Amino acid sequence: MSETTKSGKVHASPASAKNERPARGSKAAKAGTKQTPQKGTGPKGTKQPGAGTEPSKVYFTDMRCKIGTSLLDKMDKLMLAAGMERINFQNAFVAIKIHFGEPGNLAFLRPNFAKTVADRVKKLGGMPFLTDANTLYVGRRNNALLHMDAAYENGFTPFSTGCHVVIADGLKGADEVEVPIEGGVHLKTAKIGRAIMDADVFISLNHFKGHELTGFGGAIKNIGMGSGSRAGKMIMHNNGKPRVAHDKCVGCRTCARYCNQDAITFNEEKKASINHELCVGCGRCIATCNFDAIDTPWSGSSDDVNIRMVEYAKAVLDGRPNFHISVVNHVSPNCDCHGENDAAIIPDIGIFASFDPVALDKACIDAVNAAPVIPGTVLGDRMGNQPEAKGESACGCAGHAGHAGHAGHTGRHDHFHVVHPSTNWRSQIEHAEALGLGSGTYELVTIK
Ligand code: SF4
Ligand code: SF4
Repeated sequence: MSETTKSGKVHASPASAKNERPARGSKAAKAGTKQTPQKGTGPKGTKQPGAGTEPSKVYFTDMRCKIGTSLLDKMDKLMLAAGMERINFQNAFVAIKIHFGEPGNLAFLRPNFAKTVADRVKKLGGMPFLTDANTLYVGRRNNALLHMDAAYENGFTPFSTGCHVVIADGLKGADEVEVPIEGGVHLKTAKIGRAIMDADVFISLNHFKGHELTGFGGAIKNIGMGSGSRAGKMIMHNNGKPRVAHDKCVGCRTCARYCNQDAITFNEEKKASINHELCVGCGRCIATCNFDAIDTPWSGSSDDVNIRMVEYAKAVLDGRPNFHISVVNHVSPNCDCHGENDAAIIPDIGIFASFDPVALDKACIDAVNAAPVIPGTVLGDRMGNQPEAKGESACGCAGHAGHAGHAGHTGRHDHFHVVHPSTNWRSQIEHAEALGLGSGTYELVTIK
């Protein structure tokens, strides 16, 4: 096995350069500052393997495969090189947090990747299960039965992965644990799916792609947003309460029967309304409405959602061993929550693994931004219309010095910002560093 290394650094965002926000203005989030990786702890106070004082190591293998060597073999080798076996898996329940993909989407990770992780966990003595929490929005993953149907339909069966699917927050998304957020700036507790919190070891297996609200979807999003119960997701999205679309409501009163707070009332036309004074934002009513009449307003800005999501990720990871793997293939512009996927915006890159989810995400961001744009995609189309094509900056970070040498933009531009101009992925990395979730400074170790 051979290794090559190179370093990466996080850089100041345009927001922090122009506008110091308390949560993101700490010394830890300053540009170019080398960070100490998270001092994680395992069960009974054991140290999280990989925690230390050096820049976090991120291990990488590319997509090239010699005849007779599967990419799955390379993935297993990568996990071992990254030190996954240093976790004590003996008789441990091991949550492998994954996104099963909304039916119709074809960009989600193949079940084969999950099997490779589960097989390695079993060889190391652990008891793996695949897990995700129910969604807030209308779709085919908003209760446990639909969610499991979707997982099986997309190939995540015990026959193909060698382990079971457990929907973390139960039948209707209300089976949650309220977990303290150590050092939380915006939130003090997080509502996490119970099965995820019951696990002894947590592994995130992430499909790295663009995201229409958070800029990119990687480890932090899979852990933070993905592990939140329905109520948790509402808090991350808008700190809010659901609403009823009267044009869809048929007055069946099912939602009111499931509301423990008596927060749902009916007008003379038998249309439901939610009293936000009484509503606690549990989100149960959303899943019970068969007419898709109840939803939550998606009012949070990219920064707001990113920051809350990071705090949820901290709650999930603190106090137990955790390990993270990201597959950078079929980098679609949007989340796998969509029932479709637009064409990949860059060529496939490879697989990354680390004990540090922040370093992992930053390494994936840098790799994507360094990759060539595929013509004829949403990124290719937009790049053709960008001022940068005429020799000007198109990255959205106007005002900083030395644009041409900006490593976060790998010289010229930021693919994520071009695809979703209203998003700011840097707020994820900066707040994660400030909270001690990990480090945006990393050493990349390439495994052949
Ligand atoms: S369950 Fe849906 S359709 Fe029935 S009353 Fe409630 S909001 Fe209206
Ligand atoms: S979110 Fe929960 S508390 Fe609020 S109306 Fe719906 S069921 Fe009732």
